[in-house]
Amino acid sequence: MAWAKVVPVSHFSSGRKYIYFIANPPVAASKIKANGLLIPTMFIEPTRRREPPHLRTGWIEVICGSMFSGKTEELIRRLTRARIARLNVRIFKPALDTRYHDENIVSHSALTIPSTPVQSAGQILNLAGSCDVVGIDEAQFFDQEIVDVCTTLANQGQRVIVAGLDMDFSGKPFGCIPQLMSMAEYITKVHAICVVCGDVAHYSYRLVPSQERVLLGETDSYEARCRRCFNLADRVKNEERRTAHGE
Ligand code: ZN
Repeated sequence: MAWAKVVPVSHFSSGRKYIYFIANPPVAASKIKANGLLIPTMFIEPTRRREPPHLRTGWIEVICGSMFSGKTEELIRRLTRARIARLNVRIFKPALDTRYHDENIVSHSALTIPSTPVQSAGQILNLAGSCDVVGIDEAQFFDQEIVDVCTTLANQGQRVIVAGLDMDFSGKPFGCIPQLMSMAEYITKVHAICVVCGDVAHYSYRLVPSQERVLLGETDSYEARCRRCFNLADRVKNEERRTAHGE
């Protein structure tokens, strides 16, 4: 979900005050609420022309954000629309991600779409064949090879939609996602809601003490936090660590 900024502009005419709202990027007037300065907008897909495969132009879209930000929901939404357009869609996810279901991609809100689990990014290239749209979920779990795979697919004229965590639990860029973002035509950063204060959140805060980068098991191990609440909690953790070591 992208956000459009809405700026109120007042205008006086015949002694009356009129207020206009200018949205950037532009959105339908019916979506604008006078009391809100930020309104959500949907990603509008570039049109896919029905042309022979050797004339097609491909591209890469990245959907990134923290845990609980709706990345998978947005991926499923785009893939469903591609299917409605009768495009040939193939969906992949890393085999290690089996939290909810072995084969399906399932979002936190239980939306689901069938997918193929793969052991390595290279397998995607073989299995995707000449389909129109390739969806990849949890891309941060693939190694560096995923960058070349996405580039090859897009160069072949395929639309590649990649969803993944952009930061790990410590707030550091996660694996191949930053590189994919720099090479993508379109990037959508989705946000969660901070469970502490209700602000917009973009950190995945880990509730358990493990320092491993990959720790599956979502709801009970992580929560979404805004910058302020993420940093405050980190400070408390560091102090606790220092006290435990008698420093
Ligand atoms: Zn917060």
